[in-house]
Amino acid sequence: MSASGAGPEPEPRPAVRTAHQCREALYELQVFLDGECGVTLEQAITVHLEECRPCFERAGFERELRAIVAASCRERAPEGLLDRVVLRLETEVVWESEIRLDPPGYRGI
Ligand SMILES: [Zn+2]
Repeated sequence: MSASGAGPEPEPRPAVRTAHQCREALYELQVFLDGECGVTLEQAITVHLEECRPCFERAGFERELRAIVAASCRERAPEGLLDRVVLRLETEVVWESEIRLDPPGYRGI
């Protein structure tokens, strides 16, 4: 048994986008937008947003949403604005639909 030159080669992969990173970034996004996260986390999310387009767009949308909510807290929100925002949120989220199978029903022969 000889394993010459077959050692594990660590591949340096800077800025790998993984689902885990996206999940983490979106999870911390609220704190990030509040400006309440630490410098390390803020940098990590900023770097991720620069590299990850979906997360960047999501962050932009969240920021826009916050601006609307903040404005509507100070003033009276225009009629139907909240509904439109909620509608837009719902269209972006893919909801799991429950599939109902109707029982075929037995016919006694
Ligand atoms: Zn991402």
